[in-house]
Amino acid sequence: MTNLAFIGLGTMGYPMAGHLLRAGFAVTVWNRTSLKSSQWQQEYGGEIASSPANAAANADIILTCVGRDEDLREVLLGDHGVIQSIKNKSLVIDHSTVSANISRELAGAFSALDCGFIDAPVSGGQQGAINGQLSIFCGGNADDIAKAQPVLASYAKAQAHLGPVGHGQLAKMVNQICVAGVIQGLAEGMRFAELAGLDVDQVMQLVGQGAGSSWQLLNRHKTMQQDHYEHGFAVDWMRKDLDIVLAESAQLGLNLPITTVINDFYREVQVMGGGRWDTSSLLKRLQNQ
Ligand code: NAP
Repeated sequence: MTNLAFIGLGTMGYPMAGHLLRAGFAVTVWNRTSLKSSQWQQEYGGEIASSPANAAANADIILTCVGRDEDLREVLLGDHGVIQSIKNKSLVIDHSTVSANISRELAGAFSALDCGFIDAPVSGGQQGAINGQLSIFCGGNADDIAKAQPVLASYAKAQAHLGPVGHGQLAKMVNQICVAGVIQGLAEGMRFAELAGLDVDQVMQLVGQGAGSSWQLLNRHKTMQQDHYEHGFAVDWMRKDLDIVLAESAQLGLNLPITTVINDFYREVQVMGGGRWDTSSLLKRLQNQ
């Protein structure tokens, strides 16, 4: 049986680790806040480790889903990190959304120990993680991707190998550029409808069946109208992602005017106290003006 370690039982990691256990893998988890590990064990079973290093000691594959570059560096390369105990020829699969640069740095550190590394950020949100319906953007070498495939299949709706390490994160950046623009467009349309005295729901039902439709419109317009912003993908995380996108686009010499201004709009939502609201809260920003 393949032994897995899963590090980071947040909104995404908690259900993802559960899918792995239900798919028949032996799973050991570690989470910084230990209460979440015990809740997870009560719900699914599995083992709890006392540190990332402890979790990795017997694992063939180590999966991570934490927050930012520095968080990932800490759980993988820190004093109690995975690198302290990882077995020869093990594989690390990272599901966090981080920079392509750190993915390459980590791949280098693990390759020096004859271990593999895949960057595998996901899209699909909290609901996608709970339903096991995530899109996974994979970067790495072909052998490592082949080894990861049956594990990722436990919660993937779609997965693709996009190139060497870092290309998973670059593709996820494309996703975030597209999502940010769609949400702002939806928020502007809805605010226009409100102020023009239209029945917003009626209009959105119609727009949703035509060329103006989108996943965001179909899944979010009702909750946006209800001022309900607890869908899991936090504004703080979107700000992180768009900062990463803009740093990468600067390296490419590419100007992204819409993405730049939407990043500033999300900064305003943070100032409104909405750091943990979900990303559809751009409507609330317009309503506050
Ligand atoms: P979350 O609910 O905030 O959970 C973050 C997880 O990372 C928690 O388990 C947290 O531990 C752990 N963590 C953070 N910093 C750490 C550190 N320095 N050391 C150890 N553990 C640390 O976040 P999430 O929504 O699951 O997102 C996780 C990653 O997936 C992020 O990179 C995010 O951008 C990406 N993502 C999220 C979504 C979404 O819809 N939520 C969708 C796609 C991608 P504690 O429990 O102790 O805080």
